[in-house]
Amino acid sequence: MKKVVLKNDVLVALLEISKHFHPKEAIVLLRGKETKQDIVLEEVLLAPGSVYGKGFSEFRLDMLPMDFSIIGVAHSHPSGIPIPSVEDLNNMIGRVLVIVVAPYLSEKHIVAYNSKGEPMQVIVER
Ligand SMILES: [Zn+2]
Repeated sequence: MKKVVLKNDVLVALLEISKHFHPKEAIVLLRGKETKQDIVLEEVLLAPGSVYGKGFSEFRLDMLPMDFSIIGVAHSHPSGIPIPSVEDLNNMIGRVLVIVVAPYLSEKHIVAYNSKGEPMQVIVER
């Protein structure tokens, strides 16, 4: 199975954005590329039309940029539970679903799943 490689900037952005929105859920788009071995996350984009709420977050699909470098979506779990919900998996966009888990301190609090809901190894590139 492919690994998820996070640029250090992406790691920092995910942790900071999640902290900023806590106790609400944050959601961002991920830009990057897919190689033979890895899914490399290079950039975090705030999604247009995002709705942030307690226990939910969503954005309007019709407002998403037509950008094929969007490789996945990350959102936070203020609950601290590192497991995707059924809705998370049903509404998945791209190749990887990233969850940033409270208390958002390090890459230990970042988990990634593929479209089948299988956990993927996360590596930070420093
Ligand atoms: Zn979720």
